[in-house]
Amino acid sequence: MSVLVFADSSEGKFKKTAFEVVSYGKKVAEQLNTNVVAVTINACDSSELYTYGAEKVITVSNDALSTFNAKQYTGVITEVAKSENATVVVIDSSIDGLYLAPLVAVSLEAGYISNVVELPSSTSPFTVKRKTFSNKAFSNTEIATDNKVIGLAKNSFGIHENTVTGTVEAFEVTVSETGVKSEKVERVTGKVTIADADIVVSAGRGLKGPENWGMIEELADVLGAATACSKPVSDLGWRPHGEHVGQTGKPVASNLYIAIGISGAIQHLAGINASKVKLVINTDAEAPFFKAADYGIVGDAFEVIPKLIEKLKDFKAA
Ligand code: FAD
Repeated sequence: MSVLVFADSSEGKFKKTAFEVVSYGKKVAEQLNTNVVAVTINACDSSELYTYGAEKVITVSNDALSTFNAKQYTGVITEVAKSENATVVVIDSSIDGLYLAPLVAVSLEAGYISNVVELPSSTSPFTVKRKTFSNKAFSNTEIATDNKVIGLAKNSFGIHENTVTGTVEAFEVTVSETGVKSEKVERVTGKVTIADADIVVSAGRGLKGPENWGMIEELADVLGAATACSKPVSDLGWRPHGEHVGQTGKPVASNLYIAIGISGAIQHLAGINASKVKLVINTDAEAPFFKAADYGIVGDAFEVIPKLIEKLKDFKAA
């Protein structure tokens, strides 16, 4: 018996979520008195995972797996899980992870719990806490199947160093043809993605027009943050659709979410509830977003943001 975690990577480098799932998997393995094994696909330096507790790293290198394909990745994880006799598989809750985890669960005839936020409160019965109702509530959910797949919510457990002396083992897989192939992935270069960002600077219709986004981008640059927006802003073509967050857009689970000129409609909040700290800047003290905020500034974005940028620049320079 072992705990298997999928340590996801991009262009050979581990994503931050890889370190979080390994940290989590290590603790679950301790609860079950077993080992944690990490599986990587086309990642470079597997030994990085020892720092977070991976006692064994299985590396799969195959050009046919160079871009994400849910079915092919499912095949790999299933083969490794069977060979390692893994009864618990942990996968992150990124967009790819949300495709992957249910397929892996079907393939392993496992119970699957998504959006998990804590270590199991009990391993017999196996019970974990998960977010539900668009992150507004929690439920303690039991998995009764022998095999279990856990989808770990981003930033819920955190990254914990737990250095071990690990081993690396190469694993050969046969990659099946699925009829779907990504030819080329074009990245927006030099920008932090919403999924990977620790800080997200997001703006809404209160910004009045696309010509005013310069200060939003500057604030994001100073903070090393990703930029995002509300739905009407992308519908109006002020910003690209990839920046739209909320119930019908991308989910955000950053450490800090800065909402500027966004009213805080329920559909917007549904996508950003999982962010740890929320700062709201709005002229209207009655804007619903303030009820969900940790910090709020009642003020005009056109006055507040330039001052904020200036102060942050001074702070960084000092
Ligand atoms: P507004 O509601 O117009 O708010 C603008 C805010 O800016 C106001 O609070 C105002 O006080 C403030 N403001 C104005 N001037 C300034 C200034 N100078 N400085 C600072 N603040 C200022 N919306 C999403 O965002 N994401 C979704 O995924 C989403 N999905 C939806 C799904 C459905 C089925 C439906 C029906 C709606 C959905 N919506 C979604 C839309 C949502 O209901 C709201 O209409 C939308 O979020 C409002 O966007 P906003 O806050 O940018 O604009």
